[in-house]
Amino acid sequence: MVLEAVACKHCGQAQQVKRYGTTRAGTQRYRCFDCGRTFVKIYTHKARDPLVKAQITQLGLNGSGVRDTARVLGINRNTVSSHFKKK
Ligand SMILES: [Zn+2]
Repeated sequence: MVLEAVACKHCGQAQQVKRYGTTRAGTQRYRCFDCGRTFVKIYTHKARDPLVKAQITQLGLNGSGVRDTARVLGINRNTVSSHFKKK
């Protein structure tokens, strides 16, 4: 059995990340016991990835519009719009 180190997508820490069941689609889910948050390695929906969420915020702060951001990141403009409504 080979154990691979998985880094947390939220805090970057790889020591206390453990397998945490599966998603409804059957993808392996992980939980970071340092920050307590869960994540999957490859997201089915791009906009769910914390790295893409951070990019949405960065592009918005740098003056990109909703449609610009959606085009650059390859996600739906309604997703970008709802991201800003939540913030
Ligand atoms: Zn973490």
